[in-house]
Amino acid sequence: MTATTRTRNDEANCIGINPAFFEHEEFYDIGLEACSTCNVRLWCLQLVDPANNWSDGVIGGHAWQNGRPIESATTATDPILRTYLKAQDHKVDILNRRDIKKPKREPDELAIEAFIEGQIYWRKLSAEERKIAALRMWETGQYTQTDISDLTKLSGHTLKKVLPL
Ligand code: SF4
Repeated sequence: MTATTRTRNDEANCIGINPAFFEHEEFYDIGLEACSTCNVRLWCLQLVDPANNWSDGVIGGHAWQNGRPIESATTATDPILRTYLKAQDHKVDILNRRDIKKPKREPDELAIEAFIEGQIYWRKLSAEERKIAALRMWETGQYTQTDISDLTKLSGHTLKKVLPL
């Protein structure tokens, strides 16, 4: 097993983002959010080659453990992941989520309130905490959906699920 290794590409969304979000399971949601709109996912997968390197971490839009992508809503259908695996002729199984022990980080009320008051940056919050903050900001009536998206860095798709739009 190896830690995630990523190399600079000017189009990589993770430039400037704390590597911990790609390396520590409790923060994977933030890393995956960055990957979700990254234009160089295939480059990333081919460079890091997680299946051959037995990698752990968020790489190319998927969480990996011991060189296997952890099951998610897109592991079976993502054409980029499929292209990577097919080109390398990898015989890689998807790791079933039931086999993963994921440390749970409870939402931190102080962090959520500090974020809403503008005292801390979105990167200090888990994805769950940002969703809670988004809803509370919406309920104040002081923020538009665009404001909330800009501040929380949650995608429009996620906000549609979180906010009573
Ligand atoms: S796919 Fe994710 S980890 Fe890879 S370069 Fe893009 S943002 Fe970084």
